[in-house]
Amino acid sequence: MKPAAFEYHAPRTLAEVTALLHRLADEARILAGGQSLVPTMNLRLARPAHIIDINRVAGLDYISTRDGTLRVGALVRHNAFATPLTDDPLSRLLTTVAEYIGHLPIRVRGTFAGSLAHADPASEWCLVAATLEAEIVAESRAGQRLIPASEFFVASLATALKPDEVLTEVRLPLLGETARFGFEEFSRRVGDFALAMTLAVLWLEKGRIEKARIGIGGAANRALRVPDAEEALRGRTPSPELLRQAADIAAAAVNPVEDIHASAAYRRDLVRALTRRALERALA
Ligand SMILES: Cc1cc2nc3c(=O)[nH]c(=O)nc-3n(C[C@H](O)[C@H](O)[C@H](O)COP(=O)(O)OP(=O)(O)OC[C@H]3O[C@@H](n4cnc5c(N)ncnc54)[C@H](O)[C@@H]3O)c2cc1C
Repeated sequence: MKPAAFEYHAPRTLAEVTALLHRLADEARILAGGQSLVPTMNLRLARPAHIIDINRVAGLDYISTRDGTLRVGALVRHNAFATPLTDDPLSRLLTTVAEYIGHLPIRVRGTFAGSLAHADPASEWCLVAATLEAEIVAESRAGQRLIPASEFFVASLATALKPDEVLTEVRLPLLGETARFGFEEFSRRVGDFALAMTLAVLWLEKGRIEKARIGIGGAANRALRVPDAEEALRGRTPSPELLRQAADIAAAAVNPVEDIHASAAYRRDLVRALTRRALERALA
């Protein structure tokens, strides 16, 4: 199918983008990599009257490090993380996760920020942002605001972005050298969206788990952390029994959907197995 008719705008500056959004708001959609928006327009699930293509906007394609955060501009593609940026745990984590996103043509076009704005509950980058407590920078004519990931993801395909705001940057906290991570995902075929996935990040101190982050994707209406499982691990010496306990807590905490791909019970079981494996991988 072809999309419904729309007016195309190709601004060159952020000021032009925010002016267009101010004028058109609800009638307009930002076009970044187009890997989610274009299929939904072709299927006529979305019929925006105006498309604001940000691909020619200068100054949005950067990755930098400042004040303990990795800053990812709105035009950074998934594939920018295909090899680690540096030899630190966050860079290695991003490279590990990037490989699971769709197929190469999607990773070459689709953007990190676009994934967050699209807010698919099974998006790998949404899981990373939720688990690591990223901050999202939104800009409008009124100025800039910072949105914590815990407030940004509202529901499936719904975020805290206002109609006149553009997402300009994502800030991910650096993890530090003592951090270890494990990422596990299950999908029916390579490149498919995940039925469920778990990201576990552990900080170890003298053989004990000093701090833990556990995030689950694909098994609720948005990517979410499991604070009870994180708390169960804190201060404890890792053991197979402890990891099983944390995995059980994670499985009980999610509220999976039932669809043609998997029943809710199956997804819950996946969460249990993937969480245990992600923790084992982090400790390996
Ligand atoms: C076959 C296929 C398989 C895929 N598999 C996966 C997968 O396994 N995992 C995964 O995570 N994704 C997958 N995707 C989706 C892909 O990762 C998209 O790239 C991503 O979801 C959206 O990024 P984009 O830059 O393409 O955004 P677009 O498609 O351009 O936009 C998506 C939405 O976000 C909004 N938006 C985009 N950028 C901004 C911004 N800066 N500010 C405000 N709003 C913005 C748009 O208006 C639109 O509503 C797949 C896509 C396809 C076609």
